[in-house]
Amino acid sequence: MTRTSKYLNQDTIAALQSFQIEKIDREITDYLDTNNKMNTYHFEYCPKCGCYHPRLIKSGFANSGKQMLRCKECGKRFVVDCGQLTFYSHQNQSKWNELILDTLNGVSLKETAAKINVNERNVFNMLHKLLVSLGTEERPIHSR
Ligand SMILES: [Zn+2]
Repeated sequence: MTRTSKYLNQDTIAALQSFQIEKIDREITDYLDTNNKMNTYHFEYCPKCGCYHPRLIKSGFANSGKQMLRCKECGKRFVVDCGQLTFYSHQNQSKWNELILDTLNGVSLKETAAKINVNERNVFNMLHKLLVSLGTEERPIHSR
């Protein structure tokens, strides 16, 4: 098994077991993800008008209790998890593709997490978003 790390230097890599390196890398990736999410909701494109880097303002809550945002470009409101997953996720498209394929193929969360270098909790969250978006894309669920 090759020992590589996105974050650690060569001396550190040499002193660690490969599973330890993997674990550290995944933790750091997770921290970076979490910090990125602190910038509240980042949409690369408006799901309604498709404008690039839209200016969004919080605009109350949907009946489902979900935060709604209004795009200042087109004036339309949408639920935060409306539209495609990648509009609000910091995980890149290839990770989503892997996750979706693995889910369909019955691969365990743990294996998927290791493969796409995302920790299990985040994979679980991603999977949850995926299922929510599949179930509510056309018709929001109002009951709890
Ligand atoms: Zn818009």
